[in-house]
Amino acid sequence: MYKVKKYDVVVIGGGIGGYYSARVLRNGGKVVALIEKDKLGGIALRWGALPVKKILDSFKGIKKEQIKEIRENLITKWDDDLKKLEKKIINNLLDDEIDIYYGDGEFIDSKRFKIGSQIIETDYFIVATGTKPASIKDIPIDGVNIITHKEAIDLTNIPKSIIILGGNVEGIEFAALYAKIGVDVIVIEKEESILLGNDEDLVFPIEENLKSLNVKIIKGIGARKAEIGKNRVNVLLDDGSIVSAEKALVTFMRTPNFPKGIENTKIKTSKDRIIVREDLLTDEENIFAIGDINGILGMAHVAIQQGIKVSDYILRDIPVDISYEVLPRAVFTFPEMAGVGKQEWELKKDNTPYKLGIAYFKDSWRGWAKNIEEGFVKTIIGLDNKILGIWMVGENVSEYIGLMGQLIKEERTVDEILSNLIIHPSLTETILEALLQSKNEKVIG
Ligand SMILES: Cc1cc2nc3c(=O)[nH]c(=O)nc-3n(C[C@H](O)[C@H](O)[C@H](O)COP(=O)(O)OP(=O)(O)OC[C@H]3O[C@@H](n4cnc5c(N)ncnc54)[C@H](O)[C@@H]3O)c2cc1C
Repeated sequence: MYKVKKYDVVVIGGGIGGYYSARVLRNGGKVVALIEKDKLGGIALRWGALPVKKILDSFKGIKKEQIKEIRENLITKWDDDLKKLEKKIINNLLDDEIDIYYGDGEFIDSKRFKIGSQIIETDYFIVATGTKPASIKDIPIDGVNIITHKEAIDLTNIPKSIIILGGNVEGIEFAALYAKIGVDVIVIEKEESILLGNDEDLVFPIEENLKSLNVKIIKGIGARKAEIGKNRVNVLLDDGSIVSAEKALVTFMRTPNFPKGIENTKIKTSKDRIIVREDLLTDEENIFAIGDINGILGMAHVAIQQGIKVSDYILRDIPVDISYEVLPRAVFTFPEMAGVGKQEWELKKDNTPYKLGIAYFKDSWRGWAKNIEEGFVKTIIGLDNKILGIWMVGENVSEYIGLMGQLIKEERTVDEILSNLIIHPSLTETILEALLQSKNEKVIG
């Protein structure tokens, strides 16, 4: 016999997108249920982004001789830390009086979802079920030797050596992490550059740092096949050579988590996503899809923003409107890279002329006081002096980029920024310095 319960909104998927949507809706007065198939938190809070950053942060600014101690400390406390994190997520949801259901349920139709013996009825659904790692047939993930980020984040099981398949953001952050804790790392990237889609001068310091940690980076050659030997993975590359390590981490492919029973609704899917309109509605007028599952941009802050915007629509009828082109991006390595707006390669591709300014953190008064040696800010402006892009490399730069997308969205000019005071002495003065310079530089393109 089924029990039936009615909600205003049901969120399917307790990752970062689902978590924020559920809380915003509940705080706005809606009666909300959250359904999670596995563990709350999803990739960002439980299986990837946040744990990776926690480990990387632990190694910031420390001396070489402290590495062993920090590593041991992290490993001993790792299980406990994750349990604390999980408890925090659950408590926040329960404090908000959100009903949590665990299990792999299914759509009955566009208004009803079945989970165990419970039928949940609702006015709106938000699908936020994310994606999971995938691979090619000849590189089969077994979770032991050929692993994904879910196993790679488990610090209680660190290999002596690892091959990272993919020099993308995920691959390069794991390369930095593993190299710091003393693992022999090989990165295989089939394109000619790691962190593809970023200007060479931004990638260069990160690549140099990885090399200084003895990371071997093989570029321009893909991985074709992986075979598991005795405690070893042998990876055959496109040029016929073989590289070998204790484990291989696959980062180059993901596949969508479609909820069961989707065929009982009018929701349309493609091979890799749920298809949504610009306002994030599916082909059902009461079912939204947010975060990685809609394939728009696979980043945690995109999932959060989409969740908040959809919630605003449900609560207050505010149209969903998101400017993806001014969302900030970051790579959490040593040093970090962060920025917003256009990069040079994009402007060159579009034949858009621009002016460039570069200023170094070490040349600012605060940089001098802090003994900062590395890092710079690169500003890109148009011929009308409007800001097109602000990019940075250096320690903690992900913290400075914050709301700068708004400057680009509002089409602010260099003069408008220069007439606003920035704290002295601070490292953000380097941004002013770069902007000042870009104004007077010659036009490129
Ligand atoms: C290693 C790594 C590092 C990353 N670092 C960053 C970073 O620094 N910054 C950044 O912006 N992004 C980062 N990302 C990307 C970011 O984690 C994702 O964009 C984000 O997690 C997407 O959130 P989501 O809520 O859409 O999906 P997910 O986080 O995937 O959450 C989906 C949830 O739905 C659940 N679920 C799945 N199917 C069902 C079902 N049928 N029923 C109920 N529940 C279900 C899952 O168990 C999961 O809990 C990183 C990704 C990885 C892999």
